[in-house]
Amino acid sequence: MERFVDSSTWHALGIASVAVGAGVLSAGGLLAYSVFMPRCQFWAPVIRSIPQRDAIALTFDDGPDERFTPQILDILAQHNAKATFFVIGRFARKSPALIRRIVDEGHVLGNHSLDHEHFGVNRNLAYWRTQIGETQKIVADISGQQPYLFRPPMGFKTWHIANAAKEIGLPVVGWSVRGLDTKIHDSGQLARRVLAKVAGYDIILLHDGVEPGRPSPASQQNTVDALPAILNGFAEKEHRPLTLVDALIPETVA
Ligand SMILES: [Zn+2]
Repeated sequence: MERFVDSSTWHALGIASVAVGAGVLSAGGLLAYSVFMPRCQFWAPVIRSIPQRDAIALTFDDGPDERFTPQILDILAQHNAKATFFVIGRFARKSPALIRRIVDEGHVLGNHSLDHEHFGVNRNLAYWRTQIGETQKIVADISGQQPYLFRPPMGFKTWHIANAAKEIGLPVVGWSVRGLDTKIHDSGQLARRVLAKVAGYDIILLHDGVEPGRPSPASQQNTVDALPAILNGFAEKEHRPLTLVDALIPETVA
């Protein structure tokens, strides 16, 4: 299929790679800093904002989840809002109807690795080729569409992760506003936090699923419950919710 984010766009969209703190950190310190700070640009350009001042991009990670994803899709439809879903490959395989529903309702799918393994940060290029490549294949087999974007689990970035994504042709996406919805369980507090942080140009990180490493029982019902207030707040501020494809490739906006 046609890939509309080609490698030159990949570079144009990203922010120039700079050795953040190279002068003040040891090699080991820089490595740790670049891997664990999602905003760090050391290994690869990472997209963490959109070009539109009057828009935001809602992103949901760690789904699809039969408990929460349908509720989130219902709320987005009621508000006529579009979003981007960074799905875990093994969850996509378990819930193919949700993958098809996400696409059918005009949202965008992103790749969030096959297993979302916490120790994946230590793994090599071959491992990451499989993690990203298998997820592309699973999603394409279900929906007929390959994901256009990749977000590493936990925002990790290593040379191997960046290079595997680049080989497969996927821009790496971070965020500018972290909802902290895996930690803030009060939906009112969560909505207030997101709305206080958002100023336009933002990519907002929320969750519609529970990553495999989280102790059970874990829930994202707080995210579902906060979403109507978040969307109403965007409407009041006149921030249009766009998918990352519509935001980053403006000519696709109707
Ligand atoms: Zn995740």
